[in-house]
Amino acid sequence: MGDKVKTQRTRELEFGGPLGALLLPVLLPCTVLHLLLACRSEEASLFSLPSPLPSLADLWVPGSLLLLLAWCGLQAALYLLPLGQVTEGMPLRDGTRLSYRVNGFQAFAITSVLVVAGVASGVLRLSAVYDVCVDLAVAAVILSFVLALLLYARSLCVPESALAPGGNSGNPVYDFFIGHELNPRIGSFDLKYFCELRPGLMGWEAVLTTMDIVNDGFGFMLAFGDLAWVPFTYSLQAHFLVGHPQELAPATAAGIILLNALGYFIFRSANSQKNTFRRNSNDPKVAALETIPTATGRQLLVSGWWGLVRHPNYLGDLIMALAWSLPCGSAHVLPYFYVIYFTVLLIHREARDEHQCRRKYGSAWNEYCKRVPYRIFPYVY
Ligand code: NDP
Repeated sequence: MGDKVKTQRTRELEFGGPLGALLLPVLLPCTVLHLLLACRSEEASLFSLPSPLPSLADLWVPGSLLLLLAWCGLQAALYLLPLGQVTEGMPLRDGTRLSYRVNGFQAFAITSVLVVAGVASGVLRLSAVYDVCVDLAVAAVILSFVLALLLYARSLCVPESALAPGGNSGNPVYDFFIGHELNPRIGSFDLKYFCELRPGLMGWEAVLTTMDIVNDGFGFMLAFGDLAWVPFTYSLQAHFLVGHPQELAPATAAGIILLNALGYFIFRSANSQKNTFRRNSNDPKVAALETIPTATGRQLLVSGWWGLVRHPNYLGDLIMALAWSLPCGSAHVLPYFYVIYFTVLLIHREARDEHQCRRKYGSAWNEYCKRVPYRIFPYVY
């Protein structure tokens, strides 16, 4: 990135500023551990401590860190394979674009073949993942702290133009937490893109126009989210069902599958529509949609999915989240943690995005809000 493009100091701090940035790296890992341990206890209570609590020696198993590093190493090797397309990201502040290899599907297919071969040959026992899940989560927390510290140290040596506009406050605790550098890379290996799409969650498309990639720096928030929070709390429902199996009537199961399909359809169509539009507004798939011009030269979609609510992709994601929790029945709140937390996260995220869009697009954004009054849930919110 050209050195002439300076990154301004971040004045508006999020997540409670430095105090939030100090507390969250303690509270969030404790939450992950509490949720996993609670799921494994008979009471499965969200609000009381699981007993007995494991000792520190039980939680720290060096083999789990090695297993996690082997998994990340395998995914990094697959990411480097010259398979799949190379595509360009959104323009950076100096007008240049970074290239990204899109081979998540191939990586997923190869990983699946390896897992099936491992299970068929008896080398791999899938239930072992459940057995070591808590130790793996501890290893993932340690790895995310180490990664975030290395990222912060590295960000002190890069040109100012490479910093993230939201993570340049000058307060080391805050910048470590939010992410100081926007797109840390080793050669063509993009660390943020890799962590977002591989070790903890695979198969996500249309990611190059999302806030995580375009706006957010790579620091503790994303490193911990990608390596620890997403894989270990988003799978909580499956974890719960191992110890608390539920009977589902076929009609209920069919209803839940349909709800999930509806959520996926909305999530995917809305994200694809915006992604296609941002990449090429003349693409025949989006060329007929109504738009509002903005002073920046960019346009805002005001019909199609983005004319229904201002964040149709969040709506689809939340419907899926509910569908993933419903198979756990109604006797416990714990397996609904994901959908409750995710609603809070997306409402907060919507407010963050709204704030940034109003700053970027001014009166055009106000016009959009007038035309599309609901944020996430049609006629509700
Ligand atoms: P979006 O992909 O919704 O991106 C928001 C950006 O889209 C805005 O900043 C603006 O950027 C552009 N935009 C907004 N409105 C319009 C419009 N009307 N027309 C054209 N462009 C518009 O945000 P996220 O990154 O938050 O979400 C991406 C996906 O990731 C969602 O499906 C979300 O549910 C999911 N997600 C999942 C999480 C999880 O933990 N599972 C966490 C966070 C997100 P610009 O104008 O600059 O292009």
